[in-house]
Amino acid sequence: MPEIKLKCACGSVQGTTTNVTGKSGTRVVCCCDDCQSFAHYLEQESDASEQKVDVLDQYGGTDIFQMPIASLKITQGNEHVSCMRLSPKGIHRWYAKCCNTPIGNTMDAGVPFVGVIHNFMDNEATREADLGKSRGHIMVKFATQHVPENLQVSFFKITLRVLAKLLIWKLKGLNKPSVFFKENGDPVVEPNVLTKG
Ligand SMILES: [Zn+2]
Ligand SMILES: [Zn+2]
Repeated sequence: MPEIKLKCACGSVQGTTTNVTGKSGTRVVCCCDDCQSFAHYLEQESDASEQKVDVLDQYGGTDIFQMPIASLKITQGNEHVSCMRLSPKGIHRWYAKCCNTPIGNTMDAGVPFVGVIHNFMDNEATREADLGKSRGHIMVKFATQHVPENLQVSFFKITLRVLAKLLIWKLKGLNKPSVFFKENGDPVVEPNVLTKG
């Protein structure tokens, strides 16, 4: 099984996936308003730095590959891994603060998935061979322009697939080892929680 190289835009944070294929995870493009807010947060921050972070596609969607947390290894630059939440109970949104590259999204420590964001995978040229075609765009009511029918996938269908995977990963204990959470379940860094406004 090929490993996929993981790398932030500046190269300070690097890692790899293990035991991951298109079949073992779920690749979707999420158009929800929260994913867009996260992208804009990083883009604003990155305006000040050298690298420009380009997260969203023309519909305001984020290309995500959902896979087990245990399959993601960081080999260097752990100290740059940062976390934000759009609200106190929001999901954990991880990024490399050296260059504001999004890494991925997780729930709490017990939930075994990470939705890795395309920018953090160093596979632009081989992405389709590595992970298969995207299953489609979800949450299209938030899209910035109409998403053609043939690019959409039903949220229900994706949810069934994701829940089935989660159950298996949970039974296999694939929430550990985790680069995001300590043994006691605390996040490795204190998340920056956005307040309204
Ligand atoms: Zn970086
Ligand atoms: Zn989303």
